[in-house]
Amino acid sequence: MRLILIGSPGAGKGTLAAEIEAKYPVVHISTGDIFRENVKHETPLGRKAQHYLETGQLVPDDIVIAMMEDRLIEPDCAGGFVLDGFPRTVHQAEVLEKMLERHGLHLDAVVLLDVREDIVVKRLSGRRMCRCCGAIYNVEFRPSAAGDRCEKCGGELYQRKDDEESVIRNRLKVYNQQTQPVISYYEKKKMLTRLPSPPSGHTLLEGLEQAAGIAE
Ligand code: AMP
Repeated sequence: MRLILIGSPGAGKGTLAAEIEAKYPVVHISTGDIFRENVKHETPLGRKAQHYLETGQLVPDDIVIAMMEDRLIEPDCAGGFVLDGFPRTVHQAEVLEKMLERHGLHLDAVVLLDVREDIVVKRLSGRRMCRCCGAIYNVEFRPSAAGDRCEKCGGELYQRKDDEESVIRNRLKVYNQQTQPVISYYEKKKMLTRLPSPPSGHTLLEGLEQAAGIAE
């Protein structure tokens, strides 16, 4: 199974991708996570990306594309993947299409997580991440049972620099300007599935399975 998740920052792509990875034999590839790891370890890629991450701008296409060209041919991608945060520009989408064609691969679904902007702002400003395992919590909607530590591994929870209010506004502006056109791109190709917020009692994963016709 090969999926792309599109959605504004805070739409729930990371959470949904992790649920898909836990249930299906696919690997979750988050470009944001890859960049954050590289920034943390001060690699050459991390040094190039750091300023963009901290200010909520997109890392330039050539850097992201080179990274994804390497990532998608790793052996663990053979069983399928969920892309979380890529493509974010039309140019990235076009290059991805050519990359997949070259390898004789097709996409099963491009899924748009449709969430209202006011909800997204609330989610992002309350989001906390584990420094060790990357688990995601929310001080309001999904607090950790272990307080300010991760309930899975005990790691320290922190607020991403780009989840501070001023940067959130910038990330949403960047999303509206640069990633919205990617939605139209897949819509024109009749590849887009819209996934609204699930009714209470249902998970986003159930909604996805139904909307995209995916099931075990
Ligand atoms: P995310 O965790 O997906 O919100 O990504 C965090 C940050 O990583 C973004 O604000 C960008 O600076 C950078 N980033 C992640 N994916 C991409 C991408 N596909 N293109 C450009 N920049 C990206």
